[in-house]
Amino acid sequence: MFWRSLRTLLFVNPCPCCGRRSPALICGHCQRQLQTCQLKSSLLNGRGLFPLFAWGSYGGPLKRAIAHLKYDQHPELGVLFGQWLAESWLANPTRPTGAITVVPIPLHPEKLKQRGFNQAELIARGFCRITGLPLAPQGLIRQKNTLAMFQLSLADRQRNAMNAFRLGSGLKRHHHVLLCDDIYTTGTTVQTAAQTLQSHNISVCGVIVVAATPQGTHHA
Ligand SMILES: [Zn+2]
Repeated sequence: MFWRSLRTLLFVNPCPCCGRRSPALICGHCQRQLQTCQLKSSLLNGRGLFPLFAWGSYGGPLKRAIAHLKYDQHPELGVLFGQWLAESWLANPTRPTGAITVVPIPLHPEKLKQRGFNQAELIARGFCRITGLPLAPQGLIRQKNTLAMFQLSLADRQRNAMNAFRLGSGLKRHHHVLLCDDIYTTGTTVQTAAQTLQSHNISVCGVIVVAATPQGTHHA
């Protein structure tokens, strides 16, 4: 704690997005840049089978920040984005209420080993820290290494995603689940995850993501 305070005092933490030294995790400049990506309402209608809640629109500074999180070893950004997502979720009066368990979309074990962390789990941890909702980090297990989705046609995406998950631990029949991921693109991944849960009588009441692609576009 002492060293953390001292480091903060000395401004020795470089911002993970731009490298400027900053007392906050993300420097003021990058925070302002990221805020331009924040959606006015976190609930996006007409996207898939479940209510979709997103903090921001996937593109520009937010797309770059998520890349820093995943590919430049900045797991601390995941927890922070989860906290931002929680604040916009709590501000939305139409959010589902009641007994809800948060389940991150898992990475394949090989990918997890490579990266060292699952960004969706970190986001879910930040989200649960603010909302107080219970987290089941192992609720779903990924059992097949899916190919990079952006290389595939829609039909191939669906085929590739089938049987990608199995039920893990921490969930019981009739639980209501909020699925958490970093980016929402076509919804294929969450649909497949939801099918796995539904086959065990566990229902999905919504999907939370840091960023959703603008409707009609297909980023990776
Ligand atoms: Zn910065």
